[in-house]
Amino acid sequence: MKYTRILLKLSGEALMGNQQYGIDAERLMQYAEEIKAAAATGTQVAVVIGGGNIFRGVQAEAFGLDRVQGDYMGMLATVINSMALQSALEKLNVNTRLLSGVTIQRVCEPYIRRRALRHLEKGRVVIFGAGIGSPYFTTDSAASLRAIEIEADVVLKGTRVDGIYTADPEKDPTAVRYPEITFEEVMEKNLNVMDMTAFTLCKENNLPIIVFDMNKGGNLQRLIAGETVGTLVKMGTAPAPKFDAQPSTLQPTTEA
Ligand code: UDP
Repeated sequence: MKYTRILLKLSGEALMGNQQYGIDAERLMQYAEEIKAAAATGTQVAVVIGGGNIFRGVQAEAFGLDRVQGDYMGMLATVINSMALQSALEKLNVNTRLLSGVTIQRVCEPYIRRRALRHLEKGRVVIFGAGIGSPYFTTDSAASLRAIEIEADVVLKGTRVDGIYTADPEKDPTAVRYPEITFEEVMEKNLNVMDMTAFTLCKENNLPIIVFDMNKGGNLQRLIAGETVGTLVKMGTAPAPKFDAQPSTLQPTTEA
């Protein structure tokens, strides 16, 4: 097993399966099975799940509603998805805890970092609900932030495409997949991996991201076993610092 601790990010939309809205029962159980198999390897598993299958904050503006209110609605949507995933995992006899960034004391624990760590150490699958608990963020940002906080080895972003391509593979047939790419290249080429806030958090904290196809059975386990699946985004090897051959001729100054 390659990783001690992983953070798996699943989008809410992926939970829809072929539906237009909400949760597809079959897809939900499929994800629960994959997570169970991942946890059974002994890797500690934390999960962040989105809410786009129910509500996104930006939709509120289209309705003429308040954006911040919409964002909280989106956060609550992620709690609904998290509760569904928790229940599906429990059906498979997997111990889980749901920790929410917005306190909803009857249904889940509040997010407390040390608690999350303790649950993980005990082998429980930890689900982080309600994103980071603040508007104007996304669950991708929550995934990056929580992963850094719990010192996960990697963020595994499960999507319906099997990695990062030179162009959108669903639109451009000539697009090819990168097996590996650096954070800098992603920025230079303007590729879409995560939103900028989430991406920058990973980059600045040297946290690798793997984008992979979560709908292909066994992929998560293969990744944990160390196989190359999807696209790995990692730090580039920094160029050697260049020093001037001549020492500086600047005189120290006493000026304020
Ligand atoms: N959201 C938020 N703060 C967070 C996480 C989520 O305001 O920390 C809101 C935001 O409105 C977002 C919605 O919750 O659109 C659902 O999350 P997201 O769009 O990330 O879900 P996904 O695209 O992964 O399904």
